[in-house]
Amino acid sequence: MDTTTNASARSLLVISAHAGDFVWRAGGAIALAAERGERAKVLCLSYGERGESARAWREGRGLDEIKALRRAEAESAAAALGAEIEFLDAGDYPLRETPELVDRIVRVYRAFDPDVVLTHTLTDPYNGDHPAAARMALQARVLAQAIGYDAPGEPLGAPPVFFFEPHQPEQCDFRPDVLLDITSVFDRKRAAMECLPAQQHMWDYYTDLARRRGVQLKRNAGPNLGLPHATMGEAFVRLYPQVTGELS
Ligand SMILES: [Zn+2]
Repeated sequence: MDTTTNASARSLLVISAHAGDFVWRAGGAIALAAERGERAKVLCLSYGERGESARAWREGRGLDEIKALRRAEAESAAAALGAEIEFLDAGDYPLRETPELVDRIVRVYRAFDPDVVLTHTLTDPYNGDHPAAARMALQARVLAQAIGYDAPGEPLGAPPVFFFEPHQPEQCDFRPDVLLDITSVFDRKRAAMECLPAQQHMWDYYTDLARRRGVQLKRNAGPNLGLPHATMGEAFVRLYPQVTGELS
């Protein structure tokens, strides 16, 4: 853990199936948290070495070389966003759901003690690893809350969980109920995207998506906020009810 950060600061944990997912889907949320002085951590369950590294395979690289390549790219992207990153190297395509892997995630929850959790949607007919990561993220969260679960640290509280936007939102039953204004950090998100040259075709796609979510954000915020024309957004779905003493 980065010892330069404030241990009492709020904290954001992003659980990502593959090395690149957190950048496209939650890079703005991560950069915003970091800019507020919060701790932000990305937990990559795999490197995406088999399923999301097509260019490297076509170039004739070997498995270990591809894993090292994706790891280095993800480390650069996390640094661009201001986040720490940890890799569990659990393998992808398929990412296997095992009690051992869930236990490793529990230990991350207990050690990091997040205030907010981001992960994949529970539905994704294009990519079985993404819902698998989400199921394990949710199961581990519940286990980490149990005082009787045998892992170091205090029981976890009840950090809210947000699903970040999948690549094909309609097919993943993704209907946003949170639009996050990432305008002030979009340059950092773009810089993080550009740390992933193996997926260069995604850079403009996710820039355009941020622009469209920004238009929707302004429509939902209303005209009185005076948001700039070039507002950029990220969309999320909240899993558990918001807990509040005042409706807002
Ligand atoms: Zn992925």
